Amino acid sequence: MKGKTMLITGASKGIGKATALLCAEQGASLVLLSRNSDLLNDLKQEIISKYPAKVLVFPCDITKPEQIENVFKQLNAEKITIDCLVNNAGIMQDATLLTISDELIKNTYETNVFPVIHASRLAVKNMLRKRKGSIINITSIIGINGHPGNTVYGSSKAAVVGITKSLAKELAPLNIRVNAVAPGFIETELTAGIDEKFREKNLNSIGMKRFGKPEDVAKVILFLASDLSEYVTGQVIGVDGSMVI
Ligand code: NAP
Repeated sequence: MKGKTMLITGASKGIGKATALLCAEQGASLVLLSRNSDLLNDLKQEIISKYPAKVLVFPCDITKPEQIENVFKQLNAEKITIDCLVNNAGIMQDATLLTISDELIKNTYETNVFPVIHASRLAVKNMLRKRKGSIINITSIIGINGHPGNTVYGSSKAAVVGITKSLAKELAPLNIRVNAVAPGFIETELTAGIDEKFREKNLNSIGMKRFGKPEDVAKVILFLASDLSEYVTGQVIGVDGSMVI
């Protein structure tokens, strides 16, 4: 990853943070986004104390398109070219059909779907300088297989698969690859609130008999960011220990 710069949304915790640490270890420079500047600065300190990586952090609410635009304005002004965009930031709030509020639909789509298109549009303009790039979108097995109580979240993640496949076809002639990663049940803050009975049910559906770690997902993101996957585009790679086969 030496010489490559990755922009990761939702880098303050969970899968985004694990990806930042792993890719820095492998030599990447990083541009890290989330709303929480304290967590981002702590992560930056951790990374630069361990690895010789260049790290820029930007507090950014991805539901505000002008804030993402502002990040790219600053990168472009400093002539920083992004080799890889990881659209990772996301939220999950369960609601069965009759309890779904319009606000939940709006918040979920404004976080999980629209910024994937907004950030990709800005990143591709930036990547055109090198005529090469990799976009990695984090979807979910729920977006592919569905789940009760996850109509809103699941449909937002299904949209991410749709974005990935259309963009992969559109951008292949420009040598920009677009892939998605579909995690199963990964132990992060996103799943921390899930009750014990439901956790057990999920665990029983995993052949490997363990929940995933953020690092399990980070390793697949690293593969898709690196030139090891240079002929791979339009794919959705599951990381779920056999939960869905
Ligand atoms: P997490 O630990 O809750 O982290 C979510 C990240 O998204 C945080 O860094 C958060 O940063 C950021 N974020 C949320 N809203 C944001 C906003 N409006 N603007 C900027 N950043 C925002 O969750 P995770 O499990 O690592 O999830 C990462 C991705 O994987 C998500 O897209 C999720 O849907 C997907 N996924 C997770 C699982 C799982 O089992 N954990 C399974 C399938 C898919 P701040 O709060 O600092 O802004």
